[in-house]
This record gives sequence, structure tokens and C-alpha cells, in this order.
Amino acid sequence: MVDLKGQYNDIKDVVNPSIHEVIETTAFINGPKVHEFQKNLEEYLGVKHVIPCANGTDALQIAMMGLGLKPGDEVITADFTFAATVEVIALLQLTPVLVDVNPDDFNINIEAIKKAITPKTKAIVPVHLFGQCADMEAIMNIAEEHNLFVIEDNAQAIGATYTYKNGKKVKVGTIGDVGATSFFPSKNLGCYGDGGAIFTNNDDLAHTIRGIVNHGMYERYHHDVVGVNSRLDSIQAAVLNAKLPHLDRYNERRNLAATKYDKALKNIDGIITPFRSGEADNHVFHQYTLQIKGIDRDALVKHLNENDIPCGVYYPIPLHRQKAYLDERYNEADFEVTNQLVKEVISLPMHTELDDEQIEHITSTIINFING
Ligand SMILES: *Cc1c(COP(=O)(O)O)cnc(C)c1O
Repeated sequence: MVDLKGQYNDIKDVVNPSIHEVIETTAFINGPKVHEFQKNLEEYLGVKHVIPCANGTDALQIAMMGLGLKPGDEVITADFTFAATVEVIALLQLTPVLVDVNPDDFNINIEAIKKAITPKTKAIVPVHLFGQCADMEAIMNIAEEHNLFVIEDNAQAIGATYTYKNGKKVKVGTIGDVGATSFFPSKNLGCYGDGGAIFTNNDDLAHTIRGIVNHGMYERYHHDVVGVNSRLDSIQAAVLNAKLPHLDRYNERRNLAATKYDKALKNIDGIITPFRSGEADNHVFHQYTLQIKGIDRDALVKHLNENDIPCGVYYPIPLHRQKAYLDERYNEADFEVTNQLVKEVISLPMHTELDDEQIEHITSTIINFING
């Protein structure tokens, strides 16, 4: 699904000495590379504060802790996402409220959010799924009207731009009260292990979060709040410093590959190519996900695998039907879109090293399967 080796070969001359420097200086934790990466990412995103941490799941959890959410507070998020989003809500003893998504861009549905709001609702967590930014202007309006926090799960969309109706552009993840991202190796900006970060423009929140990631310490050995231990290590920061200058180019390459897939597949019966909302840079194609209608998905997966083409089904089960997140207040009729998507989605290989020959092989294999 991804070609991390090809991408590494391209930046090896920068990455290797930088990793080596960390080892030579033995500044493995909180070294200068971490601070450098924090500054670089703040500048890239145009955000006041970046707080690096250990992974994307921690980033989400710490963001929620920083906002002071309390057990019983309701947090609305999408039913169609990776489990980490809802997991941290439940872990903090907040109440997850899963809602349906849009049939076109697969992101959280605005009407469904409105319907789910109760006096206990405290936050909304939009996920910019597969690299496509959610409808942030509408979400921010709802949040303002009901006095809710917005936590952006930006694990799949780092580098994506959001274009406001008035034309103003900002980086995704910097619009809500706080954003959380992951540097898992296969993400659009991946390190060589685990990593994550939290972003915010709020000075007080940034201060609170900097303490939380470090055992609740604001002054050495004074533990003012219950915190966690969540750090980005210096070797990962060295990798990320080497890769960040390439992120826009990486995302452009993903976009180009997506356009080539679109061209080959858009007029094929039974295939719906990914919807792009807004401008070209509003989608960074973490995944290239087709919706297939009237085609046997299991047989297609098998056929692709037999032709040495990896593919993935993200996600095969809606979160509201996962054992850990069952809730008697859910009504199947409210999850019509997610229930359909889990049966119809299939994601094709997507990475920065895809070439025309590979795309041609993948798309012709799909078309041959459909034409039987
Ligand atoms: C990857 C991912 C996460 C979690 O990131 P980790 O670094 O693996 O903890 C959270 N949310 C979404 C939508 C993701 O894709």
C-alpha cells in the first residue's frame, strides 16, 4: 500500500547523518532536534504552538485532557473513522456520541451533528478522513452557537489546506481549538517509528498541554495536574525535520496519482471515484478510496491480491457496531451512510512513489475484473 523504501532512498543523504548526529550527541529525549522540529512545524502550519508527543492517539487524548473535559461530557465524532478517535473519548470516561457521515466525502455530517447535540455535549471531533478536510466552517459555526470545543483529528490530512468561503486559506488542524496528528510511518508525514503532535493557537491551552505531556509538571517535581508521559524522541524528530520540507511535494505527488486513478476509473460502471470538496490542495489523499456498487468486493480484493496488488478496506465495521462502543441510544436508521460505506469501500495503493506503469497495472486489473 505504501513504498517507504523508495521515499527513504530519496532523502537518505539528509536523514542518515541527522540520525547519526542524535546518536553521537546522545540527546535521545527532548534534544535540540525535537525543539527544531516543533519550530519548523509551527512555521509550516502557521500555528502558534506545536506540542510534539508520542503518537496520534496520545495527541487526541492529551488534547481532550487539556480542554478539561470531564466524565459524562458528551463528545460527538464520526462513526466512520479509525477507532483511535473514539477510543480516547471512552478512555477518559467521556461519552462518545457517534454520528453518520456524508455519502460523498465520507466526513462527519453537519445535520447529524446538530441532531446529536444535547445539554451535555461539550465537544465535536471532526476527522479529516482519507486526507479530505471536513466542512470546518459549518462545524465552527455549530460550535460557536452551542459553546462547544472543536478538536480536529488531523492524523490523515497533514499538509491539507482548508479554503474558507471568502477565499482565505489555512492549514487543516489549525482551525478548531486544538488539532491532533500522527507521524505513524504510513501517514502523509511519517517518521520511522511512532510520533504525534498537538497544535493550537491558544497560549493558555498550549501551556496546559505542555505540562500534561510531561507528568503534569509545570515546575520540576511539582505535579499540578494528572498528566501522562508522551514524548517524541529525538531520532524521530531528526527524520521529521528531513521530511517536512518535502511534505508539499509528497502531497502533490499523491494528488497527481489520484488524478491518474480518477482518469482511468471515472467512467467505469459500478465505480465511484473519490469526491474532492473544495480546491485541489484541500485533499491530500492519505487514502485513495473507491466506492463500488454491484461488484463483489471480496472477489475484487482477491483478484487484486492475485495480481500482486495490495488493497485495503478502511473501515469494514462501523464504530457504533463495535463491541467496545455499543450504546443502546443508537438507532441503525441514523447510520445509513456508514452502514453502506463499510460494504462498498476499497482503498488502492497510495504513496509518493507510484509511477504511471503501476497505476496502469492497477487500474487495468480492476477494469479486467469488472469486464469479466
Ligand atoms: C492513525 C490515526 C490515529 C492514531 O495515530 P497513531 O499515531 O497510530 O496513534 C488517529 N486517528 C486517525 C483518523 C488515524 O488515521
